[in-house]
Amino acid sequence: MQIQRDVDLQSCNTLAVPSRAEFFCSVTTIDDLREALSWVQKRQLPLHLLGGGSNVVLDPEIPGLMVRMDIRGREVVSQAHDHVVVRIGAGENWHQLVEWALSNGFYGLENLALIPGTVGAAPVQNIGAYGVEVSRFIERVDGVTISEGEEISLRAEECEFAYRDSVFKNRLRSRFVITAVVLRLSRRFQAHTSYPALQDVLGEGPVTAERIFNAVCQVRRSKLPDPETIPNCGSFFKNPIVPWDLYEALAERYPGMPSYDASSNIGPARKLAAAWLIDQAGWKGKAVHGIKIHQHQALVLTNPSRLPADVVLDVASMIQMEVKAKFGVLLEMEPQRIGS
Ligand SMILES: Cc1cc2nc3c(=O)[nH]c(=O)nc-3n(C[C@H](O)[C@H](O)[C@H](O)COP(=O)(O)OP(=O)(O)OC[C@H]3O[C@@H](n4cnc5c(N)ncnc54)[C@H](O)[C@@H]3O)c2cc1C
Repeated sequence: MQIQRDVDLQSCNTLAVPSRAEFFCSVTTIDDLREALSWVQKRQLPLHLLGGGSNVVLDPEIPGLMVRMDIRGREVVSQAHDHVVVRIGAGENWHQLVEWALSNGFYGLENLALIPGTVGAAPVQNIGAYGVEVSRFIERVDGVTISEGEEISLRAEECEFAYRDSVFKNRLRSRFVITAVVLRLSRRFQAHTSYPALQDVLGEGPVTAERIFNAVCQVRRSKLPDPETIPNCGSFFKNPIVPWDLYEALAERYPGMPSYDASSNIGPARKLAAAWLIDQAGWKGKAVHGIKIHQHQALVLTNPSRLPADVVLDVASMIQMEVKAKFGVLLEMEPQRIGS
């Protein structure tokens, strides 16, 4: 493992914000990772983690050591007639895992095709798309504690998965490095096609896992900008979950407002579509200070001129303020800020 000084991270984040890490290394093994942990401990420096950089907003200067997770490996741990358990290295590419699973007849991940990034980051925000979240398949998350370098595993129940949320974004943030994810996939295909956009593309005919995979890729390519050509980090805001009384007041004022059930043991609640709120506030397709709100998906802020994080965050807070003023709803940022 080689530690480099003053490393340019602009090509390591899909939003393409200019950023430099004081120190940087890639780790390919747990031993490498332990070495990096003791290196920062000796120098009392902060440690940051990076996968594919598709869900982060990086500060211009990042003090301490940025560790890029590159631990690979796909292993079938056990098989039964109806399911298979696989253990995947944190540095594996997520979409390639989906393709591999499908080609082996391991089903479940089709709806999550084409989500950028690494397997290790997938549990962090419990990635989800088209009605499916990764938490549904996670049996266990393996990792190393940052303070002790101790290898531990968390069962799914301990990961506190919720909508775009988990223990890794909260209590274990900056405390735990995910080194592998253990998934239980089905050998029997079960279709999840509740999303209207997916149904439209699927049309008539028998629904197979391959057809869902292709439909998801088609819908995503038509709606989302490719970060390779138009820098972005996907949805910039989470869909807000609001209490029932606020939902009812809004639904009366805006009868066409989309909403979904989000009730839990805490009580009845509704999830609103952040894209709809942003669109209604007049931001869809708009460009401000060089940041463009994508014309096909108002949740995506694009950064075509590769401007720094503060410009992106300024535009994001303008959107938050206008949505709050119009609907009384606070939009929470989805990507993680690193460096501040
Ligand atoms: C075009 C586009 C479309 C997207 N669509 C979706 C979507 O449909 N659904 C969805 O949920 N997300 C989506 N995203 C967001 C993003 O792809 C996911 O959140 C993805 O899981 C991030 O992976 P990454 O490897 O790039 O993580 P990074 O951006 O590198 O890191 C994200 C966070 O996880 C932490 N982290 C990374 N690796 C580890 C590790 N091994 N251990 C502990 N912490 C770690 C980082 O420190 C950071 O806080 C999209 C992004 C883009 C650009």
